[in-house]
Amino acid sequence: MEIKSDIEIAQACEMKHIRDIAAVAGVDEDYLEYYGKYKAKIDLKLLSDRAEKPDGKLILVTAINPTPAGEGKTTTTVGLADGMRRLGKNTVVALREPSLGPVFGVKGGAAGGGYAQVVPMEDINLHFTGDFHAIGAANNLLAALLDNHIQQGNELDIDVKHITWKRCVDMNDRQLRNIVCGLGGRMQGVPREDGFDITVASEIMAVLCLATGLSDLKARLGRMVVGYSRSGAPITAHDLKAEGAMAALLKDAIKPNLVQTLEGTPAFIHGGPFANIAHGCNSVMATRVALKMGDYVITEAGFGADLGAEKFLDIKCRLADLHPAAVVLVATVRALKHHGGCPKADLGKENLTALEKGLPNLLRHVENITNVYGLPCVVAINRFPTDTEAELKLVEDKCRALGGNVALSEVWAKGGEGGMALAEEVIRLCDAPNQFRFAYDLDQPIEAKLEEIVKKVYHGDGVVLTPAAKKQAAELTALGFGGLPICMAKTQYSFSDDQTLLGAPDGFTVTVRNLKVSAGAGFLVALTGDIMTMPGLPKVPAAEKVDVDETGKISGLF
Ligand code: ADP
Ligand code: MG
Repeated sequence: MEIKSDIEIAQACEMKHIRDIAAVAGVDEDYLEYYGKYKAKIDLKLLSDRAEKPDGKLILVTAINPTPAGEGKTTTTVGLADGMRRLGKNTVVALREPSLGPVFGVKGGAAGGGYAQVVPMEDINLHFTGDFHAIGAANNLLAALLDNHIQQGNELDIDVKHITWKRCVDMNDRQLRNIVCGLGGRMQGVPREDGFDITVASEIMAVLCLATGLSDLKARLGRMVVGYSRSGAPITAHDLKAEGAMAALLKDAIKPNLVQTLEGTPAFIHGGPFANIAHGCNSVMATRVALKMGDYVITEAGFGADLGAEKFLDIKCRLADLHPAAVVLVATVRALKHHGGCPKADLGKENLTALEKGLPNLLRHVENITNVYGLPCVVAINRFPTDTEAELKLVEDKCRALGGNVALSEVWAKGGEGGMALAEEVIRLCDAPNQFRFAYDLDQPIEAKLEEIVKKVYHGDGVVLTPAAKKQAAELTALGFGGLPICMAKTQYSFSDDQTLLGAPDGFTVTVRNLKVSAGAGFLVALTGDIMTMPGLPKVPAAEKVDVDETGKISGLF
């Protein structure tokens, strides 16, 4: 069988006008702001107009600890939604927007795969509706205002050696990680060390994704800390009178973008915060609008369930008052064999021993969703062409033996039809009892919150704070930030902070080296190691294969 590339499948799709996609969910053209024929932003007035309408059911798609390739969460999200529609359910998708960095780097795009994709995938993976550029402009406006304030006399007494706000660009460009700027003499700015983050790592991205409207966006932007004064007081964007202009730049970016799946299901693609130093899920606005449009909303959180689901539930759902109805945990035979010690080169060959050895990773995530968070959970086995019947059966049997729900997902190969078995399980679970609760309470000391995450969600022995992190915890508490939720920045490959500890490790501690506040987003970031906020390109960047012909047809995206 010839396997078509993602872009070939996407380009063969006859897209419907976005007006007709909105109509599928009963949304009138009046609410649409068109970006061509196949993309539209939605007027936020829809939320107040439908305030009385009950929300649809929210379903989170998450995964086991991933391998470097990604395990198919986006693909499963899209195919599950198409499967739900085939069963006659009014379903809407809500996903993150891809960043140009990974598109041109190693990972490629993030619009699903095979016969479970969102289209137009070229636009979604490239500039889309310009949201990321707007975020970059707002970020860099604040940087310019900050340096200008210092140049013009520094009334706020900002400590030039303690500036935390960086410039940003949506590109993997390691050359800009650390720079010296303001060179050239008295009138050319104040010389200092600076650096760039990739746009998705900007706090503004997290702010935009957690904002509940333009006023809330503006208030959050104003609270962002850009540095400290020489006496150690935090300097905010509000101190620089920056939030009004930043919010003005973001007035359209805050509106959710509507596109379609290959099978014509409405899909929101909106916002794309990092899943390490930020919370890693699409915007609250997109989720809320989707809940007013669909009876079921399928959404995805980045990385594995220890990071992605934990932050979706403990940060996003808590801050936005969302109540998920069910969780889908994506697992692949390949990744489970990887957790069982099978070398990368052999993942395509049957290996029941390694598979069985890797299964505890999956089972621990299921246990967390069920016991820690009190949510109904189903395992979706995302079928790869190399999986054998015996391997698929082993995963299914083990899940069932422990009383878990499990369904085979063949959406990559078959689209919505391959997602119907999973869809039936999800529909059933949405009506099951649900005792949703958070993993930790906010009104306890920072160290206690960290301890709860490490013990309950990672199953470690406890947390260790370096002396520097201890000092930061005390300082942040004194500044009044102690009551915020925690955003863990940890390797996605392991339950622990050591990426080589695969499977379901025990007897480890997690070391927090650095604590900082994202006061606008409204969380504390706990860094367990060096987290790269400006990635670099690999030796052979994916960009080398991307091309466009005379008619504007793009090739080489994946
Ligand atoms: P995630 O959202 O977990 O990062 P994606 O859904 O983006 O993962 O999938 C990562 C890559 O794996 C994509 O290129 C996708 O086409 C591919 N993929 C996903 N599921 C399958 C499958 N069942 N068979 C083959 N390739 C797949
Ligand atoms: Mg994804």
